[in-house]
Amino acid sequence: MAGRIPQSFINDLLARVDIVDIIDSELPLKKTGRDFQALCPFHGEKTPSFTVSQEKQFYHCFGCGAHGSALGFLMEHKGLSFVEAITEAARGVGLEVPYEGGETPTTPSVDYSPIYAILSPAADSP
Ligand SMILES: [Zn+2]
Repeated sequence: MAGRIPQSFINDLLARVDIVDIIDSELPLKKTGRDFQALCPFHGEKTPSFTVSQEKQFYHCFGCGAHGSALGFLMEHKGLSFVEAITEAARGVGLEVPYEGGETPTTPSVDYSPIYAILSPAADSP
């Protein structure tokens, strides 16, 4: 069982992730003006009505009404769970997912000694 993912991490991740990068790696997007377009992966079509807004960071299909964020796209298109979508998006931008509680996949080894040295300057004095 993996632990919960802190909301602050999700916010941070969404700030770094570009929905255009995420979707473009799954289906080729074509830039049209300020937005990007592709053939919708959620319904069969011959003319692109699947639109991705880089500015607003969401996708919308005028054909079938599919709509969502970068994480939503990963979940819908690849059939991932929310946690899996976050893990995948985080990997794409080189972030490690910090789980709250439950198992901790990796424990970062942090050297606190410089902090202690600053906090207790008197310790070195005779
Ligand atoms: Zn569609």
